[in-house]
Amino acid sequence: MKTRAKRRGPDWVLNGAKMWITNGSIAGLAVVWAMTDDGIRGFLVETGSKGFSAPEIENKFSLRASVTSALYLDDVVVAQDRVLPLAKGLKGPLSCLTQARYGIAWGVIGAAQACLTEVLGYTAERELFGRPLAQNQAVQLRLADMARRLSTAQLLALQLGRLKDLGRMTPVQVSLAKWNNCRMALDIARDCRDLLGAGGIGAEHSPIRHMLNLESVITYEGTETIHQLSVGRELTGLSAF
Ligand SMILES: Cc1cc2nc3c(=O)[nH]c(=O)nc-3n(C[C@H](O)[C@H](O)[C@H](O)COP(=O)(O)OP(=O)(O)OC[C@H]3O[C@@H](n4cnc5c(N)ncnc54)[C@H](O)[C@@H]3O)c2cc1C
Repeated sequence: MKTRAKRRGPDWVLNGAKMWITNGSIAGLAVVWAMTDDGIRGFLVETGSKGFSAPEIENKFSLRASVTSALYLDDVVVAQDRVLPLAKGLKGPLSCLTQARYGIAWGVIGAAQACLTEVLGYTAERELFGRPLAQNQAVQLRLADMARRLSTAQLLALQLGRLKDLGRMTPVQVSLAKWNNCRMALDIARDCRDLLGAGGIGAEHSPIRHMLNLESVITYEGTETIHQLSVGRELTGLSAF
């Protein structure tokens, strides 16, 4: 972690940068995690503070409706009463991530369902060689496989929710679900895009939009590889990262 916070009299002075922050340019308050002499601490930083800037990152192909920003902190002064009192070390930011990743495991199911629903309608209506596209075995196999993967992802998220209610959900279980469900949704969105033929690249169809947005979702809140490595560490007891 490169962002640092140093004591100066009664205050703290923050220096550093963080790329890819959702809503950074429009937020009034930023939660900033920074390294101090006593380890990682969380700071509430007003975005109007002197030395704080958050330019928007332009030209994205993914999540185009969402503002993404780069945060820069150049000698930003933060008062002691803006330090999160109970969050010390990596546990604070990591526990936020576990909750967000749990939500993602559900959210991507909706994206995949939207793609499948659209393609079921399209393949039923599209006539090729005298019959609906949906009346081809190869097409039905693909649709059935999407339903299988979607149902499995739903059950995984449901069981995770049950464990969460019981206070027994672990971060590595969330890693498995975030990885599986994002991969499932991205693969289904891509396959649906293909089943729509050339029209599938047009903005009037949703699968390509979901597909491009899911490229962000499979990357943020921990990339697919990092979640795979977490599961690998759980299985082997050996950390490979
Ligand atoms: C649209 C969008 C919004 C975002 N919003 C936020 C936000 O609000 N807040 C926030 O904090 N972050 C946010 N992020 C950042 C996001 O969490 C990071 O981009 C993500 O964690 C990946 O980090 P990175 O970009 O530094 O990639 P890197 O860590 O540089 O990874 C690059 C590649 O290397 C692989 N890799 C990395 N380490 C290893 C290893 N040890 N072994 C094998 N492979 C490895 C990765 O899997 C990846 O494929 C956002 C990102 C996007 C795209």
